[in-house]
Amino acid sequence: MKTVGFAAYDPKKPLAPYTFERRGLRDNDVAMEILYCGVCHSDLHTARNDWGWSYYPIVPGHEIVGRVTSIGKGVTRYKLGDHVAVGCMVDSCQECDQCKKGEEQLCREGNTGTYAGYDRFTKEPTQGGYSKHLVVREEFCLRMPEGLDLAKAAPLLCAGITTWSPLKTWNVKPGSRVGVIGLGGLGHMAVKLAVGLGADVTVVSRSNAKEADALELGAGRLLVSADSDAMAQAHDHFDLIIDTVPVRHDITPYLPLLDVDGTLVLVGQVGPMEEFNTVPLLLGRRRVAGSPIGGIRETQEMLDFCAEKNILPDCEMIRMDEINEAFERMEKADVRYRFVIDMASLAAPATV
Ligand code: NAP
Ligand code: ZN
Repeated sequence: MKTVGFAAYDPKKPLAPYTFERRGLRDNDVAMEILYCGVCHSDLHTARNDWGWSYYPIVPGHEIVGRVTSIGKGVTRYKLGDHVAVGCMVDSCQECDQCKKGEEQLCREGNTGTYAGYDRFTKEPTQGGYSKHLVVREEFCLRMPEGLDLAKAAPLLCAGITTWSPLKTWNVKPGSRVGVIGLGGLGHMAVKLAVGLGADVTVVSRSNAKEADALELGAGRLLVSADSDAMAQAHDHFDLIIDTVPVRHDITPYLPLLDVDGTLVLVGQVGPMEEFNTVPLLLGRRRVAGSPIGGIRETQEMLDFCAEKNILPDCEMIRMDEINEAFERMEKADVRYRFVIDMASLAAPATV
């Protein structure tokens, strides 16, 4: 199937239109028309090849909401017209202990990324959701719960699950004290989801510019990381801190904020970090951990939770051809709090 999208052709050039083929339907495949796609900072990292594993052209986008347009003959869970979603993975081995537990993101063979991955059968590069159509095996297709606003829900597929998963792993519940470093796409979802689970949430931001927003999102307070007095007063305060900062940084100032046995979980920067001081780690028996997206079952659980509690990302809708400006604004942390591309703004190729 011929489709159209926007691709990065080079780490330094703006994204531009790209016409390409989606694979023909396998028996267990679902084909969809993409309606909305969120803009994740990982899309920007990938377009710029920050992680060194991009190929070109590459079509980013892994916060995808669509409508089923056809199904393979073995598909049982979806029918034409269903509203569905796809996140950061489109395949995994399905055989290993992690896949069997529903933790496909931790597949022993590595999961197949929605973009920047390679099809497990053809070895062709995968291409993401900044496009008109997608083909995905049914096991990696999520069901959009009734009543969830389709346009706004797209960022749940990455920003939502990436913050939901550590909240669940570290058993956040009513009364848990949660800190969120960086109020961006992931950060604002971490706040909403943690508040939804009954936690007492603090946003840790570089300045107080987002204080009113933090309170509006449900946080109890905003702590300015540049304010050393305020940081000192917040020592020993948190059970869990989710660090969403997208660049190399020093976590040493944040470690004393954790209570004994507290955990700082890195979900942001992918790659080498600054050296950090082990003293607060040892003395408080504190932990530093990492967490990648989340499994398919957990993603469906998060979508259903959001539908039940009416939790939705704060979105700024854009046209496909506004993506380069959106990337520039995202780099400056000037987005409140997720760009979502309305795919109706992208003309379908004449041959589909
Ligand atoms: P984003 O919307 O750009 O938000 C990042 C936030 O971090 C900004 O709003 C800002 O918050 C803070 N920040 C930005 N630049 C900073 C700097 N130089 N120093 C300190 N803080 C800074 O990004 P996102 O989409 O939430 O993604 C965040 C990171 O998570 C990215 O690196 C992305 O690749 C990664 N990610 C990881 C996974 C995973 O599976 N673990 C999944 C998705 C994304 P303040 O203005 O409040 O300081
Ligand atoms: Zn993402």
